[in-house]
Amino acid sequence: MREVTKIYPHKVVALDKVNIDIKKGEFVFIVGQSGAGKSTFIKLLMREDLPTSGDILVNGKNVVKMKSSEVPYLRRGLGVIFQDYRLLPDKTVFENVAFAMQVIEAPRKLMQRSVNAVLDIVGLSDKYKNFPNELSGGEQQRVAIARAIVNDPALVIADEPTGNLDPETSWDIMDIFKRINASGTTIVMATHDKAIVDAMKLRVIAIEDGRIVRDEARGTY
Ligand code: ADP
Repeated sequence: MREVTKIYPHKVVALDKVNIDIKKGEFVFIVGQSGAGKSTFIKLLMREDLPTSGDILVNGKNVVKMKSSEVPYLRRGLGVIFQDYRLLPDKTVFENVAFAMQVIEAPRKLMQRSVNAVLDIVGLSDKYKNFPNELSGGEQQRVAIARAIVNDPALVIADEPTGNLDPETSWDIMDIFKRINASGTTIVMATHDKAIVDAMKLRVIAIEDGRIVRDEARGTY
């Protein structure tokens, strides 16, 4: 991000001249109180919204100058995970993950192989026929992670992925993130989870009132 400012209607300054570099393969936590600007940061990264000013380069492309027709290509290089899982309720685990590949019109054989591979990574191979309402919160989040990584994105963005989970389940999710990151995928995770941030000793970027107030290589919450 280069001098990124986001001003919402009624002059709410959600991000104020933010400059930040995140390198390929990093695992970064974004922390800050409610209203600090974390979700705005994430929405701008995935080009769900545009900044008021400044430039944002994601996977080498300036998303601010990008035409709407290019946005789907950007999204293919991104995996996004939310606090509330956002699975399709009338599709099975397999179909939820496969759906992300149907969108890019992947060949059927490749799709089957890739979906099986990512379900194996998240430890849900035996539940591929289940529907989301037959799964625990932790299992649903694992499906969401499988869906996020099935197209092998360079960058995974997670907004409070453990927000609805108990501590033990949260650690299972973090173990999966660690493995994904170890294979070279960049991870940017907004979180309120002090225990996780403090234990993992990764880069921590703290936002307060739309400003980066701290950026530490092996930081704490
Ligand atoms: P966080 O994710 O850290 O809780 P947000 O990025 O959601 O923070 O919000 C930052 C600030 O911008 C807050 O003051 C919030 O009320 C405001 N804000 C967020 N989204 C909008 C919007 N769509 N319209 C107006 N104000 C918004």
